Amino acid sequence: MPAEELFREDAYLKSCRSTVTRVDDRTLCVEQTVFYPLGGGQPGDTGTLAWEGGSARITDTRYCEDGDIGHILDAQSAMPPVGTPVELAIDWDRRYRHMRMHTAMHLLGSILRYDVTGGNISTEKSRLDFNMEDTVDKAAVASALADLVEADHPVSCRWITEAELDAQPELVRTMSVQPPRGKGSVRLLEIAGVDLQPCGGTHVRSTSEVGAVRIGKVEKKGRQNRRVNIHLDD
Ligand SMILES: [Zn+2]
Repeated sequence: MPAEELFREDAYLKSCRSTVTRVDDRTLCVEQTVFYPLGGGQPGDTGTLAWEGGSARITDTRYCEDGDIGHILDAQSAMPPVGTPVELAIDWDRRYRHMRMHTAMHLLGSILRYDVTGGNISTEKSRLDFNMEDTVDKAAVASALADLVEADHPVSCRWITEAELDAQPELVRTMSVQPPRGKGSVRLLEIAGVDLQPCGGTHVRSTSEVGAVRIGKVEKKGRQNRRVNIHLDD
Protein backbone atom coordinates (compact mmCIF):
# COMPACT_ATOMS: atom_id res chain seq x y z
CA MET A 1 0.00 0.00 0.00
CA PRO A 2 1.43 3.42 -0.92
CA ALA A 3 1.59 6.01 1.86
CA GLU A 4 -1.57 7.86 2.79
CA GLU A 5 -1.09 11.43 1.54
CA LEU A 6 -2.16 13.54 4.53
CA PHE A 7 -1.03 16.79 2.84
CA ARG A 8 -3.75 16.40 0.21
CA GLU A 9 -6.53 16.73 2.79
CA ASP A 10 -4.81 19.29 5.02
CA ALA A 11 -1.85 21.26 3.65
CA TYR A 12 -1.35 22.87 7.07
CA LEU A 13 -0.30 19.64 8.82
CA LYS A 14 3.31 20.19 9.91
CA SER A 15 4.04 16.75 11.36
CA CYS A 16 2.64 13.25 11.80
CA ARG A 17 3.40 9.93 13.40
CA SER A 18 3.87 6.95 11.13
CA THR A 19 5.59 3.59 10.68
CA VAL A 20 8.39 2.67 8.29
CA THR A 21 7.14 0.36 5.52
CA ARG A 22 10.19 0.20 3.23
CA VAL A 23 13.86 1.15 3.19
CA ASP A 24 15.72 1.19 -0.11
CA ASP A 25 19.23 2.69 -0.13
CA ARG A 26 18.67 6.31 1.14
CA THR A 27 14.92 6.27 0.42
CA LEU A 28 12.38 5.54 3.13
CA CYS A 29 8.63 4.95 2.82
CA VAL A 30 6.02 5.15 5.59
CA GLU A 31 2.34 4.36 6.16
CA GLN A 32 1.23 8.00 6.07
CA THR A 33 3.05 11.26 5.47
CA VAL A 34 2.80 15.06 5.52
CA PHE A 35 5.70 15.34 3.02
CA TYR A 36 4.74 16.61 -0.44
CA PRO A 37 6.66 14.84 -3.25
CA LEU A 38 8.08 16.86 -6.16
CA GLY A 39 5.35 17.41 -8.73
CA GLY A 40 3.42 20.00 -10.68
CA GLY A 41 6.35 22.42 -10.50
CA GLN A 42 6.33 22.35 -6.69
CA PRO A 43 9.52 21.07 -4.98
CA GLY A 44 9.50 18.07 -2.66
CA ASP A 45 9.40 18.83 1.06
CA THR A 46 12.42 18.73 3.36
CA GLY A 47 12.39 18.22 7.12
CA THR A 48 13.23 15.78 9.89
CA LEU A 49 12.57 12.16 10.77
CA ALA A 50 12.77 11.08 14.41
CA TRP A 51 12.49 7.68 16.11
CA GLU A 52 13.43 6.24 19.47
CA GLY A 53 17.18 6.62 19.68
CA GLY A 54 17.72 8.42 16.38
CA SER A 55 16.91 11.20 13.96
CA ALA A 56 17.72 12.15 10.38
CA ARG A 57 17.37 14.98 7.89
CA ILE A 58 14.98 14.44 5.01
CA THR A 59 16.62 16.31 2.13
CA ASP A 60 13.98 15.73 -0.56
CA THR A 61 10.72 13.90 -1.27
CA ARG A 62 10.08 12.10 -4.56
CA TYR A 63 7.57 9.65 -5.92
CA CYS A 64 8.94 6.11 -6.18
CA GLU A 65 8.40 4.24 -9.44
CA ASP A 66 5.46 2.33 -7.93
CA GLY A 67 3.69 5.52 -6.80
CA ASP A 68 4.71 5.36 -3.15
CA ILE A 69 6.28 8.45 -1.56
CA GLY A 70 10.04 8.28 -1.03
CA HIS A 71 11.65 10.37 1.72
CA ILE A 72 15.32 10.86 0.82
CA LEU A 73 17.55 10.81 3.92
CA ASP A 74 20.91 12.55 4.04
CA ALA A 75 23.95 10.37 3.41
CA GLN A 76 25.29 10.43 6.99
CA SER A 77 22.22 9.39 8.96
CA ALA A 78 21.21 5.93 10.13
CA MET A 79 18.17 4.34 8.46
CA PRO A 80 15.48 3.05 10.86
CA PRO A 81 14.37 -0.49 9.90
CA VAL A 82 10.94 -1.46 8.56
CA GLY A 83 8.34 -1.43 11.34
CA THR A 84 9.95 1.42 13.33
CA PRO A 85 7.47 4.00 14.67
CA VAL A 86 8.64 7.44 13.49
CA GLU A 87 7.65 11.09 13.61
CA LEU A 88 7.97 13.17 10.44
CA ALA A 89 8.09 16.98 10.49
CA ILE A 90 8.36 19.21 7.43
CA ASP A 91 10.39 22.44 7.22
CA TRP A 92 7.25 24.48 7.60
CA ASP A 93 8.58 27.93 6.69
CA ARG A 94 9.82 26.59 3.37
CA ARG A 95 6.63 24.68 2.59
CA TYR A 96 4.39 27.60 3.59
CA ARG A 97 6.21 29.78 1.04
CA HIS A 98 5.62 27.07 -1.57
CA MET A 99 1.91 27.13 -0.66
CA ARG A 100 1.77 30.93 -1.03
CA MET A 101 3.66 30.78 -4.33
CA HIS A 102 1.55 27.91 -5.66
CA THR A 103 -1.65 29.82 -4.89
CA ALA A 104 -0.18 32.96 -6.49
CA MET A 105 0.45 30.92 -9.66
CA HIS A 106 -3.24 30.05 -9.87
CA LEU A 107 -4.08 33.76 -9.49
CA LEU A 108 -1.62 34.68 -12.22
CA GLY A 109 -3.14 32.03 -14.50
CA SER A 110 -6.60 33.47 -13.86
CA ILE A 111 -5.38 36.92 -14.97
CA LEU A 112 -3.48 35.76 -18.04
CA ARG A 113 -5.98 33.37 -19.60
CA TYR A 114 -3.57 31.60 -21.91
CA ASP A 115 -2.41 27.98 -21.95
CA VAL A 116 0.30 27.34 -19.38
CA THR A 117 3.20 25.40 -20.90
CA GLY A 118 5.48 25.18 -17.86
CA GLY A 119 6.19 26.45 -14.41
CA ASN A 120 8.43 26.20 -11.43
CA ILE A 121 8.02 27.11 -7.77
CA SER A 122 10.63 27.99 -5.16
CA THR A 123 10.58 29.90 -1.88
CA GLU A 124 11.63 33.27 -3.31
CA LYS A 125 11.03 33.19 -7.03
CA SER A 126 8.63 31.27 -9.24
CA ARG A 127 7.78 31.33 -12.90
CA LEU A 128 4.92 30.46 -15.19
CA ASP A 129 5.27 30.07 -18.98
CA PHE A 130 2.34 31.05 -21.16
CA ASN A 131 1.64 30.10 -24.76
CA MET A 132 1.05 33.68 -25.98
CA GLU A 133 2.36 36.14 -28.54
CA ASP A 134 0.90 39.27 -26.95
CA THR A 135 2.93 41.62 -24.81
CA VAL A 136 2.30 41.32 -21.08
CA ASP A 137 1.16 44.57 -19.48
CA LYS A 138 3.16 44.17 -16.30
CA ALA A 139 1.53 47.03 -14.39
CA ALA A 140 -1.97 45.76 -15.19
CA VAL A 141 -1.10 42.20 -14.17
CA ALA A 142 0.52 43.42 -10.92
CA SER A 143 -2.53 45.48 -10.09
CA ALA A 144 -4.96 42.63 -10.83
CA LEU A 145 -2.86 40.24 -8.75
CA ALA A 146 -2.80 42.66 -5.80
CA ASP A 147 -6.59 43.01 -6.04
CA LEU A 148 -7.09 39.22 -5.93
CA VAL A 149 -4.84 38.90 -2.86
CA GLU A 150 -6.59 41.80 -1.15
CA ALA A 151 -10.07 40.38 -1.89
CA ASP A 152 -9.28 37.34 0.28
CA HIS A 153 -11.02 34.71 -1.86
CA PRO A 154 -11.42 31.34 -0.11
CA VAL A 155 -9.34 28.46 -1.54
CA SER A 156 -10.57 24.88 -1.30
CA CYS A 157 -9.94 21.39 -2.66
CA ARG A 158 -12.38 18.60 -3.37
CA TRP A 159 -12.39 15.26 -5.10
CA ILE A 160 -14.78 14.58 -7.92
CA THR A 161 -15.38 11.31 -9.77
CA GLU A 162 -15.24 11.05 -13.55
CA ALA A 163 -18.90 10.05 -13.53
CA GLU A 164 -19.72 13.31 -11.73
CA LEU A 165 -17.62 15.26 -14.23
CA ASP A 166 -19.42 13.58 -17.13
CA ALA A 167 -22.74 14.57 -15.59
CA GLN A 168 -21.68 18.24 -15.32
CA PRO A 169 -20.28 19.38 -18.68
CA GLU A 170 -20.80 23.01 -17.62
CA LEU A 171 -18.39 22.44 -14.72
CA VAL A 172 -15.75 21.03 -17.06
CA ARG A 173 -16.23 24.02 -19.38
CA THR A 174 -15.44 26.48 -16.58
CA MET A 175 -12.13 24.80 -15.79
CA SER A 176 -9.01 26.61 -16.93
CA VAL A 177 -7.23 23.27 -17.41
CA GLN A 178 -9.02 20.12 -18.54
CA PRO A 179 -9.08 17.27 -15.99
CA PRO A 180 -7.05 14.12 -16.71
CA ARG A 181 -9.11 11.01 -17.42
CA GLY A 182 -8.62 7.40 -16.50
CA LYS A 183 -7.83 7.63 -12.80
CA GLY A 184 -11.40 7.38 -11.52
CA SER A 185 -11.41 10.65 -9.61
CA VAL A 186 -9.81 14.06 -9.90
CA ARG A 187 -8.73 16.54 -7.25
CA LEU A 188 -10.07 20.01 -7.99
CA LEU A 189 -8.65 23.24 -6.65
CA GLU A 190 -11.14 26.07 -6.43
CA ILE A 191 -10.43 29.70 -5.70
CA ALA A 192 -13.99 30.88 -5.26
CA GLY A 193 -15.04 32.99 -8.24
CA VAL A 194 -11.49 33.08 -9.63
CA ASP A 195 -10.15 29.70 -10.74
CA LEU A 196 -11.20 26.07 -10.96
CA GLN A 197 -8.82 23.39 -12.20
CA PRO A 198 -7.39 19.95 -11.43
CA CYS A 199 -4.38 20.30 -9.14
CA GLY A 200 -2.60 18.03 -6.67
CA GLY A 201 -0.42 20.67 -4.99
CA THR A 202 -0.57 22.42 -1.64
CA HIS A 203 -2.23 25.84 -1.34
CA VAL A 204 -3.07 28.44 1.31
CA ARG A 205 -6.65 28.68 2.66
CA SER A 206 -7.43 32.11 1.30
CA THR A 207 -5.79 34.47 -1.16
CA SER A 208 -4.85 37.07 1.49
CA GLU A 209 -2.28 34.57 2.81
CA VAL A 210 -0.37 34.91 -0.47
CA GLY A 211 0.78 38.25 0.94
CA ALA A 212 3.62 40.34 -0.49
CA VAL A 213 3.88 38.97 -4.01
CA ARG A 214 5.54 41.00 -6.76
CA ILE A 215 5.67 40.56 -10.53
CA GLY A 216 9.28 40.31 -11.70
CA LYS A 217 10.77 40.12 -15.15
CA VAL A 218 8.62 39.13 -18.10
CA GLU A 219 10.82 37.23 -20.54
CA LYS A 220 10.19 36.46 -24.17
CA LYS A 221 11.16 32.82 -24.63
CA GLY A 222 10.47 32.27 -28.28
CA ARG A 223 7.75 33.72 -30.49
CA GLN A 224 4.89 32.04 -28.63
CA ASN A 225 6.15 31.90 -25.09
CA ARG A 226 6.10 34.53 -22.36
CA ARG A 227 7.69 33.69 -19.02
CA VAL A 228 6.32 35.64 -16.06
CA ASN A 229 8.43 35.64 -12.88
CA ILE A 230 6.98 36.38 -9.45
CA HIS A 231 8.72 37.02 -6.15
CA LEU A 232 7.81 36.84 -2.48
CA ASP A 233 9.37 39.83 -0.82
CA ASP A 234 8.99 39.07 2.90
ZN1 LIG B 1 -2.45 24.15 -7.43
